[in-house]
Amino acid sequence: MVILGKLGDHVWLESLSNSEFSVPIGAVVKISDSGQILVEDDEGKEHWITARNINAVHPMHPTSAQGVEDMIRLGDLNEAGIVHNLLIRHQEHKIYTYTGSILVAVNPYQVLPLYTVEQIQLYSNKRIGELPPHVFAIADNCYFNMKRNKRDQCCVISGESGAGKTESTKLILQFLAAISGQHSWIEQQILEANPILEAFGNAKTIRNDNSSRFGKYIDIHFNRSSVIEGARIEQFLLEKSRVCRQALEERNYHIFYCMLMGMNLEQKKMLNLGTASEYTYLTMGDCTSCDGRNDAKEYAHVRSAMKVLMFSDSEHWDISKLLAAILHLGNVFPSSQAMSTSKILQRCLTNHSIIIRGESVSMPLSVAQAADGRDAFVKGIYGHLFLWIVNKINAAIFNPPSQDSKSLRRSIGLLDIFGFENFNTNSFEQLCINFANEHLQQFFVRHVFKLEQEEYLAEHISWSHIDFTDNHQALEVIALKPMNIVSLIDEESKFPKGTDTTLLNKINSHHGKSKVYIPPRSVHDTKFGINHFAGIVYYQSKGFLEKNRDMLSSNIMQLVYSSKNKFLRQIFQVETTGSDTTKRLSTLGGQFKQSLEQLMKILGSCQPYFIRCIKPNDYKKPLLFDRELCIRQLRYSGMMETIRIRKAGYPMRYSFAEFFERYRVLLPMSAREQDDARRCCIYISEVILGKDEDWKIGRTKIFLKDYHDMVLEVQRDKA
Ligand code: ATP
Ligand code: MG
Repeated sequence: MVILGKLGDHVWLESLSNSEFSVPIGAVVKISDSGQILVEDDEGKEHWITARNINAVHPMHPTSAQGVEDMIRLGDLNEAGIVHNLLIRHQEHKIYTYTGSILVAVNPYQVLPLYTVEQIQLYSNKRIGELPPHVFAIADNCYFNMKRNKRDQCCVISGESGAGKTESTKLILQFLAAISGQHSWIEQQILEANPILEAFGNAKTIRNDNSSRFGKYIDIHFNRSSVIEGARIEQFLLEKSRVCRQALEERNYHIFYCMLMGMNLEQKKMLNLGTASEYTYLTMGDCTSCDGRNDAKEYAHVRSAMKVLMFSDSEHWDISKLLAAILHLGNVFPSSQAMSTSKILQRCLTNHSIIIRGESVSMPLSVAQAADGRDAFVKGIYGHLFLWIVNKINAAIFNPPSQDSKSLRRSIGLLDIFGFENFNTNSFEQLCINFANEHLQQFFVRHVFKLEQEEYLAEHISWSHIDFTDNHQALEVIALKPMNIVSLIDEESKFPKGTDTTLLNKINSHHGKSKVYIPPRSVHDTKFGINHFAGIVYYQSKGFLEKNRDMLSSNIMQLVYSSKNKFLRQIFQVETTGSDTTKRLSTLGGQFKQSLEQLMKILGSCQPYFIRCIKPNDYKKPLLFDRELCIRQLRYSGMMETIRIRKAGYPMRYSFAEFFERYRVLLPMSAREQDDARRCCIYISEVILGKDEDWKIGRTKIFLKDYHDMVLEVQRDKA
């Protein structure tokens, strides 16, 4: 009993559940009389502590009891300590916490007064650690390091659906525009790209009322004076199936509902449009409105944003016509021949051509086949429309650098990409999404663990190795090794006789023995599993090849090319990026793999920052913190190991010359002109940082803790 101490003391209470995500919970001693003690845990539950369960209670380190801004300062460096720290901070609306310079952001699900103009000013030109953790501090440090190190920066924002990636991206963008900019037209254009992208690429899902159904990388360009001069947006893999089908309680893309609520009556009449409830494509999820969203108002916003981004009125009208056409097509059903559908379109959707003895013969399709063909056509239209819109935005915001300013241009890239997915049924799309997440995790692991530890070794810094979970093997099986899964899918898609079954057999024979791959349970089973860094996912292989081929029938393509609608013809000519023929011919998986590799190359050339967004509950509720849900997210993102390495390691480093050049002002006048850079580095560090164990001298570089950077910069500003 004695170890429990007194009223108000903080303790750990061991978990009684055997769930794999249960860890000790924090608790406070409440009543202590007659030898019996009551504790109240972090979730408000009370427990009597008796002689029988006294061993389940342990004292808590003071840092855990108070909470810390940087998790490397936690005395209880374990999962219980981390999740407790996030929980008590979350309760006080402190949603941001550091792990060194990595930011953990817990979604507050409420508007907090954290993003005002005053806050922007406050965080501008401050080093990480000078002020409470904030997404603005990360943005400011990206900007600062871009200028100081003359290097491109990137911010990788990860987390599951609804965790807050897109909101964080927008906040960083706003901050950068505010501090670097001049309230220029180009900044306005970059900021206004977002409402357009969200209208066409976001939708209400059960997880998130504004879920991004595509990935994006926004590269913001700065001129030699570090003023924003343009940007470029790269998009990844829009979920096209949503245009035709939505799960229960989910919606189609926002733009459809916005258009029907916001367009004036005259225009609606011209397009023969009614209300959302009249369209099959908008009602599959049995949900046409979204609490907290005003579709009419959003429409007005999208309209004005389009003006800012130089969409002409006629282009806007062309887009509206295609959106209306999609809705009308969705309402075509077997007996609607009498409708005013054009004859050619009707023939195209209900027949297919096959070649018999060298002659093309038209054969009627079954109702189901015709509906599938129609849906494929609609998905094709929407997918191309989306690409056209992204290109149109880029045409407005991208300023190619002139030859002589090319080398002086710097950039900050923001990656907001779909989080890991594991549903009851997972298909080709989930494989692509999870593949992207494996890549990003590997980027993180490489940067935070591998390169870091290799450098200590190379620089002869004394160091005991920290183990980490490396997902390289999963990435190899999915996309790197010869005969990897993505390439097998591709190969089989190009093979005329390939089917989902022949594909599965090939995957089995090549990867059956891999630890990462889980073969189907029997010959009749069509599901295979992959052991991803974030857990095992089972994929339904049926439909893989067709989704990967992503082709429209030649009839439909002919229909498009002979259409009187010039805009339709035009959007079908847009390619994702570049215009090389290999790209046009390649499959969805092939294209995706290529654009991911390109992205990884770009990220690899930048100095990276990481933001880990955490979703605290599944109900979109403020102040509700589901511990197990959070532990799961922290665990698979490798947060435990990250904290350990950031605590033990030296994430900041400079060559002796760089360090001396930057901080010589901290030396007395007489010592500034020395020529032994190494000795000067030691001298500066001893004077400013003290003779402690926290900084190290390597063979060619000096190694520092994250917080040293702050201390040195603050001193330098004063000098
Ligand atoms: P998805 O992968 O589905 O696109 P996401 O990670 O991009 O998800 P967001 O759309 O950024 O998630 O966030 C979901 C919702 O959570 C937002 O619409 C908003 O209501 C709320 N939210 C997120 N971050 C914040 C924040 N910093 N302050 C207030 N609310 C927030
Ligand atoms: Mg998003």
